[in-house]
Amino acid sequence: MRYISTRGQAPPVSFLDAVLAGMAPDGGLYVPESWPKLETKLATSHYATAPSRLIDLLSGDEVDCDEGGSVPLTNEAYIAVPCGPDDKSWRPKWPEAVTPLRQIGPGQWSLELFHGPSLSFKDVAMQLIGPLYDYALERRGRRSTVVCATSGDTGGAAVEALKNRERIDLFVLTPKGRVSDVQRRFMTTSGASNVSAIEVDGDFDACQAIVKALFADADFATRAALSAVNSINWARIVAQSAYFHTSAQILAAGGPVSFVVPTGNFGDAYSGWVAKRMCAPINRIVLATNENDILARALTGGRYERGASRATLSPAMDIQVASNFERIVFEAVGRDADLVRALYANLAQTGGFDIPMQALAWLRETFDAVAVTDAQTLGEMRSAWTYEGETLCPHTAVGRAARVAGGGAPRVFLATAHPAKFPDTVERATGVRPELPIKCADLFQRSEKFDSLPADAEAVKQYIRERSRAWN
Ligand SMILES: *Cc1c(COP(=O)(O)O)cnc(C)c1O
Repeated sequence: MRYISTRGQAPPVSFLDAVLAGMAPDGGLYVPESWPKLETKLATSHYATAPSRLIDLLSGDEVDCDEGGSVPLTNEAYIAVPCGPDDKSWRPKWPEAVTPLRQIGPGQWSLELFHGPSLSFKDVAMQLIGPLYDYALERRGRRSTVVCATSGDTGGAAVEALKNRERIDLFVLTPKGRVSDVQRRFMTTSGASNVSAIEVDGDFDACQAIVKALFADADFATRAALSAVNSINWARIVAQSAYFHTSAQILAAGGPVSFVVPTGNFGDAYSGWVAKRMCAPINRIVLATNENDILARALTGGRYERGASRATLSPAMDIQVASNFERIVFEAVGRDADLVRALYANLAQTGGFDIPMQALAWLRETFDAVAVTDAQTLGEMRSAWTYEGETLCPHTAVGRAARVAGGGAPRVFLATAHPAKFPDTVERATGVRPELPIKCADLFQRSEKFDSLPADAEAVKQYIRERSRAWN
């Protein structure tokens, strides 16, 4: 299986090269040259079967999930982990089911994606990225420096997935004072020598600009063997599409299943489309955005246009340009890479582009979109607590509030983070402060380690040069 760029000007690469590279050199995103069909019934097997089967199909012969080091890599991600370097016994990886489905009403389910080590849905994909990176780097006989700019949940999930990995050094950049205490502690308390948490004296855009500058310095990027595990990473999409496949199969007796997805970078929602494209019984996909509503405006009005970024109660979705949207635009215009390149040149130059009519009609056949205000989010959290006794994280609440947008039954609402990750907002909505689950109840007793740097790419380069084992 080969991977091509949505902008059509980069040579095709293999699955593992697409995963390690992140973005294509022409500025586009990698997508498979053709879409295989997944026809196996997965729902009765262990969860690990789904990602394993998907990797088989989407990597061609390149990755063998049943081989991969001492233990099959999907087993390492979803079943059990060794207790320690000198301890040969195993402990279960996910104390609960990986992605439990819970009925919340007639024809309605909540797909709980927050049972991983850092309590957000990003764990589900990141836990697979860890062993997959090891597998890829081992085969290539090299190391990698992974950088990650995060305003929220990606950092903690990356730390949990990549800590203590032999071939990886991880550098997480967060904006000083802009992440919640719980989120920060998931990044700063790993105790792992290959993880560096860096607090940047600037905002999230400054952190992202630094990461871009690191990649733009070709000499630095090569010598550090730089890689990013951000939401455009192909392996994250593959891993996320697994839970769409399994839950759709489980519920499909009632007809094709619709999903309501709290959306920021369009990663999770695109993963749902990938599952549908590979024949999962999926009907509609509802995009629920917060007040950063570029996707809702695009689907309604046909123009994809950057707006002013707003800080909301669902910070992991405070995104103006949804990076993965480029992948669906590519499909919507019939895989015309020249057209995608022209549209994205417009976005760069003028801040937006008009979605061609036919493409818009194509998108509307699958996607609905609705924007939800902070007031509606709080209202949803309050009524879930009052009437159901359920605490929702604010992102999950955005999805629940979007139920007006249609989709029909059976319908699945993605629950993307544990409420205890956003205790202040939950307390504001319900009057009750949520407790951390037992597996991380000691989070506030663990000791923190992080360094502070100015918002300056040169300072960050120097810092990485001194610490990365990949440097040569
Ligand atoms: C990242 C995140 C989202 C948005 O997911 P995308 O794939 O970027 O659309 C939603 N909710 C939570 C809790 C997140 O961490």
